[in-house]
Amino acid sequence: MIEIEGTYFDGQSTKPYPSTLSCDGSGSCTIHAPGGDRTVAVKDLGVSNRLANAPRILRLADGASFETRDNDSVDRLLREAEHTHWASRALHLLESRWRYVLLAVVLTIGVMWFWIERGIPALADHVAKALPASTSAALGKQSMQVLDKVFFHPSELRQATQARIKAQFRGMAASLASPFDYRLEFRQGGAIGANAFALPSGLIVMTDELVHLSEHDEELLSILAHELGHIEHRHSLRMILQNSAVALVIASVTGDIFSVTATAATVPTILIQTKFSREFETEADRFSRDYLDRHGISPERFTDIMRRLHEQSGDESDEFGFLSTHPLLKDRLQTFED
Ligand SMILES: [Zn+2]
Repeated sequence: MIEIEGTYFDGQSTKPYPSTLSCDGSGSCTIHAPGGDRTVAVKDLGVSNRLANAPRILRLADGASFETRDNDSVDRLLREAEHTHWASRALHLLESRWRYVLLAVVLTIGVMWFWIERGIPALADHVAKALPASTSAALGKQSMQVLDKVFFHPSELRQATQARIKAQFRGMAASLASPFDYRLEFRQGGAIGANAFALPSGLIVMTDELVHLSEHDEELLSILAHELGHIEHRHSLRMILQNSAVALVIASVTGDIFSVTATAATVPTILIQTKFSREFETEADRFSRDYLDRHGISPERFTDIMRRLHEQSGDESDEFGFLSTHPLLKDRLQTFED
């Protein structure tokens, strides 16, 4: 609050009125004039320059004026008004630009989302296809050792059964002219139950439980064709790279290196537990459907065993079953039904 003693002139007569100019901190002042108090903004006052000790004249828009010899108070008033002015300018600027700030935030999030959602998968796809087959082989071998230790038991299928299915599988693999070294092995799934999955090396593991569930070898071939589709499209390698890339991005932001090192150690678990994306499953389903069509095998073989898996998955023990890693059964069966 600044109080300045002075003289008020109404602009019509030369008669002086002893008066007071009172200003609050917000840039607004009150002049005690004879006809009643007048309120005026500091910025609307025309203030004369300081000339030695000559009185200062503060002019109002309508010709009225306020004269004072209290130069120091007038200077203080002008300084405070200037600060208020800049503070309000800054605030105004921020208020009028908040949309740009919001836009920048949204854009940043959008770019990060796009990178994780599209950029990383595209990069993973590119890298997966560029990596030599030996990388896949090494990854597959290591994974199999862990899986055998943690999940699997040796197969108890009869040798004749194994040999029969393997012979058919070799025929399938030979027809693909693929760079992968395809092999089929049987294991007792235990907690994993009826399942089959493909390691990046080209090794497909089928559990005894899945063989027992089948009612025709062609049902197993349809699933093997689906797994071959996963390998041909390098799905597990792409997924591992994607997960690692996401972990790398997160680590670079959080500085938590454990999430990155943990990725390398959990590769086998990723292979068993993580669901492939719907896009990957659709690709593998199409691969299987094409194979069945080309070899005159009814697509119903696939839907038959899928339905049986689905019925069996009603019991709670199916936490790791084929359908736990192959969701969206109904949507996917359409690939085989049209
Ligand atoms: Zn699949």
